[in-house]
Amino acid sequence: KESLDQGLQKTKDSFLSKITKAVAGKSTVDSEVLDNLEEALVGADVGVDTTIKIIDRIEQRVARDKYLNTSELNRLLQEEITGLLVDAPHSNSYAFQSDLPTTPYVILVVGVNGVGKTTTIGKLAYNFKKAGKKVLLGAADTFRAAAVDQLTIWSERVGVPIVKQEMGSDPAAVAFDTVQSGVAQKSDVIIIDTAGRLHNKLHLMDELSKIRRVIQKVIPEAPHEVLLVLDGSTGQNAIEQARHFTAATDVSALAITKLDGTAKGGVVLAIASQFSIPVKFIGVGEKMEDLLVFDKQAFVGSLFS
Ligand code: GDP
Repeated sequence: KESLDQGLQKTKDSFLSKITKAVAGKSTVDSEVLDNLEEALVGADVGVDTTIKIIDRIEQRVARDKYLNTSELNRLLQEEITGLLVDAPHSNSYAFQSDLPTTPYVILVVGVNGVGKTTTIGKLAYNFKKAGKKVLLGAADTFRAAAVDQLTIWSERVGVPIVKQEMGSDPAAVAFDTVQSGVAQKSDVIIIDTAGRLHNKLHLMDELSKIRRVIQKVIPEAPHEVLLVLDGSTGQNAIEQARHFTAATDVSALAITKLDGTAKGGVVLAIASQFSIPVKFIGVGEKMEDLLVFDKQAFVGSLFS
């Protein structure tokens, strides 16, 4: 709770002050309050579509209850916002500490360069290892030497093995090697980094489907998770990226990074309600410990406290 509140500090400050301003001097929720609220939510990076959904719901409550006190508005907003966020489907959920649905559990990590993909993989590896799981990393972003180097540094820092090949080799071949070696080593979790080049959608699709196909030669049900990493500090850009990646491949979960440095954390609400894909992790710093399992109640509660 403390790290959540701390990580979200900038977003919390801006979010709550905007909401508070929207109702200032008003005792009942009338159309002016709703207009102000709409503006406040859009200004807090919640996104237009999601804001409209929230305002509609509040309007319905006002219509139903006839009279709504502004002092009740915060609680109501929290309820309605939480209700919009998607739950992680149970079959697919994993806590670091508990048993995985299957082993080796293969997580394919996708996202644009710079969003914090490598760091998130390092943090995941750290958490799984700390929970006693045997982790293997795969460096299938073979286009940037820096990507392989960074992932290697994380593998050393966390103390988990890594499978890599030379720069420019076929990403699918690295993915295949990684999964095969994970099976041989009896790894519990295999986390594979991929290149995040968005400039060509067809290319991205081809590359990711090729990686899937070769992984499935070893484990037919894999990947068990396709985790899309988005940089929360880029606000609406993150939504645009989510749109591209979900069109290119089946994304099963989201990780939203860099929430510690930004007031744009409201974007988590926009993304989580718009794509029907659960947010599973949020990044609140650069260190291994700075990855939190996303809990929608706690997240929304923190915004309002
Ligand atoms: P990649 O290119 O997507 O693999 O991105 P990296 O993992 O290399 O991260 C890019 C930069 O963002 C690095 O300087 C990371 O330390 C930083 N970063 C990643 N996640 C977070 C986070 O949650 N909070 C902060 N403040 N920085 C982060």
